[in-house]
Amino acid sequence: MNKDIKIMIQLQDCWNKILYSKSEIEKSNNKIKEIKNEIVKKTGNLDKLKNEIKILKNTIKENEVDLAGFENKLKKLNERINFLKSEREVEAQNREIEKIKEDISGKEESLILLMDELDAKEKLLDQSEADLVSYRDMSKTEIEKMELKINEHGKIISNKQTDFDRTIENLSPSYKPKFLKLLNTKSGKAIGEIMNNICGSCNFQIPSFLTQESLKEENVVTCTNCGRFLYSN
Ligand SMILES: [Zn+2]
Repeated sequence: MNKDIKIMIQLQDCWNKILYSKSEIEKSNNKIKEIKNEIVKKTGNLDKLKNEIKILKNTIKENEVDLAGFENKLKKLNERINFLKSEREVEAQNREIEKIKEDISGKEESLILLMDELDAKEKLLDQSEADLVSYRDMSKTEIEKMELKINEHGKIISNKQTDFDRTIENLSPSYKPKFLKLLNTKSGKAIGEIMNNICGSCNFQIPSFLTQESLKEENVVTCTNCGRFLYSN
């Protein structure tokens, strides 16, 4: 195998590891971001629920004040009934009493519904608060794990970059610019192995004589389709 091709294989191996570690770091950072967003979302929902409970409690208080007012009015009407002179006045008074009794039972019914609603929301709040606490605990461990991973991959990148920089010094200057340019393409591939006359980088069929050529020590062969360097084992 050609000396420059051997160096390129080593460089490609370093590069693959660097790219892999970079993508692992990106994945971990995204995961951390996701967890933090989820906490913000959960906290927001909790605040919303607390506010709903506050509003509901105020509504209940208002309804209780109304109810107390109705009951007070009823008491006064009942006290007054004995002092009325005419039958007409008594009838009118009774109608008013009936009306106020309806108001009272209507208020009582709506108070029961409001209290049921409050009860359900308070249970949901307890549940949501417990959920948030356990999610925070879980995410703390998860984030620590991700940060550890980011750190480890950061070290790999820096080691592999050192290897890469040292190794590329040995590559013939005539191949260096093209090789680096290919590494910095989207696929990150500059050299591929030929398998059954297929380029390992682009998967296209190459002329079989190239396979033979690639085996010779004096040759540096490139793919007729993608232009990347080729080697055979
Ligand atoms: Zn190719």
